[in-house]
Amino acid sequence: MASSKVFYSDLRASHRQNLMDKLTMLMDHTGIRDIVKPRSLVALKLHFGEKGNVAFIRPVFIRHIVDKIKELGGVPFLTDANTLYAGSRSDSVTHINTAIANGFAYSTVNAPIIIADGLRGASISSVAINQETIKVAHLAKEIVESDILISIAHFKGHELSGFGGTIKNLGMGCASRRGKLDQHSGLSPKIKRKKCIGCGECINHCSQHAISLMEDNKAMIDPKKCIGCGECILICPNGLIDIDWGVDMEIFQKKMAEYCVAVLRNKQDKALFINFLSNISPACDCYGHNDAAIVHDIGILASRDPVAIDQASVDLVNQMSAAEGSCIKKAVNPGDDKFRDIYPKIDWNVQLRHAERIGLGSKDYEIVPIQAG
Ligand code: SF4
Ligand code: SF4
Repeated sequence: MASSKVFYSDLRASHRQNLMDKLTMLMDHTGIRDIVKPRSLVALKLHFGEKGNVAFIRPVFIRHIVDKIKELGGVPFLTDANTLYAGSRSDSVTHINTAIANGFAYSTVNAPIIIADGLRGASISSVAINQETIKVAHLAKEIVESDILISIAHFKGHELSGFGGTIKNLGMGCASRRGKLDQHSGLSPKIKRKKCIGCGECINHCSQHAISLMEDNKAMIDPKKCIGCGECILICPNGLIDIDWGVDMEIFQKKMAEYCVAVLRNKQDKALFINFLSNISPACDCYGHNDAAIVHDIGILASRDPVAIDQASVDLVNQMSAAEGSCIKKAVNPGDDKFRDIYPKIDWNVQLRHAERIGLGSKDYEIVPIQAG
């Protein structure tokens, strides 16, 4: 497959050209004018951040993208699908309230929020894709119904896929709760019980009440109640909760990439992908906190290829030195794999390799820096 163009803006700015100007240039280079048609309903898929997390993309950037779409005659709305776990985004009402609390009010972003899978996640569009691990994908309906899709991903580490970028924003982020459950269904966390001190942290955190303390004062997960959300893995202060990373992780990442195929099925030449490489936190924005960034802010990428943009993003992060005071232990030098340092058992390459194999895009890319005006 030929290499794909990934347009890149660093974060340098001047009185002649600020970051909004550069974001406009990125969208223009990526061909947003060819994508957005007058009166088309344009879904801007982003993550509003869990309550307490502050690593998500600043609303002012989203407003700039909204205004650009309106200028082209499109009708934008901000969207995400409800979460599988019971946090501050698990139904549409709390989800919108959290988004507004995090700065995504209409008065700031100039567009409404529509949670794509309905009040409690039952608004589903099922798409047959007949892939290796997913035959039928259950997507959030309003994303399927939209005319145009613009993925705006905060690039960061991720406890289940190594990193999270465009593929995760689309594959997992556009899935309905049923679809998310499908993707997590192979994940079965286990507790190393011998070392458990019975502190109860995991019990308090599990939204499904799947963990309980047994008579020996050690925690145990009930596999019948566990939905495989993975939220408990990072919570145990002693790191005693684990999954079968070899098998489970490979299938999880494959499923995520295949869901991405479903999301883009009716969006041929109607989708554009933007990754923000800033506040690159070690874990997902689904947590109610974000640890210090693992590298300095890098910039903004835009592409028409969801695989190329994620490959370029992970490479750019790994080319950096680790940020001082971050959680990175050994991979401190340029070229060291920062995500493998945080999640030694997760081969993040799986999502990229599989996405390329099933025709989502190309791992070969050409970085095209946008020229300063
Ligand atoms: S036990 Fe862990 S993976 Fe299972 S539902 Fe609870 S938090 Fe999620
Ligand atoms: S958080 Fe860890 S140590 Fe505490 S009860 Fe759960 S498994 Fe045991």
